[in-house]
Amino acid sequence: MTPARLWKEIQGKKGVVQCELCNHFCVLKPGERGRCGVRENRDGELYTLVYDKVAAINIDPIEKKPLYHFLPGTKTFSLGTMGCNFSCVFCQNYTLSQPPKLNQLIQGEEVSVKKLVSAAISYNCKSISFTYSEPTIFFELVEDTAKEAIKNGLKNVIVSNGFMSEKAIYRLKDLIHGANIDLKSFSDDFYKNLCDGRLKPVLKNLVLMKKYGWFVEITTLIIPGKNDSKQELTNIAKFIYNELGDHVPWHLSRFHPDYKLLDTTITPISTLEMGYEIGKEIGLKYVYLGNVPHNDRENTYCPECGAPLIRRIGFSCEILNLYKGKCKKCNGTISGIWE
Ligand code: SF4
Repeated sequence: MTPARLWKEIQGKKGVVQCELCNHFCVLKPGERGRCGVRENRDGELYTLVYDKVAAINIDPIEKKPLYHFLPGTKTFSLGTMGCNFSCVFCQNYTLSQPPKLNQLIQGEEVSVKKLVSAAISYNCKSISFTYSEPTIFFELVEDTAKEAIKNGLKNVIVSNGFMSEKAIYRLKDLIHGANIDLKSFSDDFYKNLCDGRLKPVLKNLVLMKKYGWFVEITTLIIPGKNDSKQELTNIAKFIYNELGDHVPWHLSRFHPDYKLLDTTITPISTLEMGYEIGKEIGLKYVYLGNVPHNDRENTYCPECGAPLIRRIGFSCEILNLYKGKCKKCNGTISGIWE
């Protein structure tokens, strides 16, 4: 067990602490664990149970996060531990995210941050991605690994539900370069009833991440009957346009029945197309469809002249008319991290 960061004692309540890592702000008596199941109060001190329990490591194409405007065509060293501060009933990684919340064994291996970074370099990865489960709950490992990665010339990426505390984002502000953040819905009821979260902190955090200069892409998993109305998708697109900027990529991802949401159907292509049209009509420059093999909506086109810039097939990509973040045809600037 490793001492946790970002927590405080509750004044006047002996041995009681409050975790300040995410917007649940769990208050924990000695012996209790937080809602994520991986932070525990031991005799008045908070500990993380996952610093030395790396449960998943893979070399992924950066496109798989998905990040489409962040060092395209490069490999990213992806890692995660068990646990999550959300309980999404449609979670696609529930075998990793949910066991600690159910008091099941927390599995994983101790891997030093130096070993993680040197492995990333040896596999010719250009970045480290904190992903699979929610990186907020393995904050200490993220912070230490990200520092080591920067020392060695790598960039850092988080794939997150965006529910961390402002303090946690502040601590990571100079360590993270790219982020794919879920904006799962524009309804607080959706967040409360299907995820055990809340909408407002996510919206606030997205603005904060942009302010700190992270390159942010947004993902919305469109689930039939849950978040697929024209009004809701319009609200999400308007938020991205007005609060984050027209250059922020929006990924509309196709739902497949998973975990506890097995009686809901796969997202119709027509719904994804509707979301695409909504995003474009509102003025978003880059809208993509995900989990739909071989579709034209996963390519990047110049928003100024329409020239094809990046062609994607699955997770592989081919750079066409893009050079150092500029369209080769019209010299228009394409937002992203390209070098
Ligand atoms: S990370 Fe969030 S869910 Fe976990 S203990 Fe801290 S405040 Fe609670």
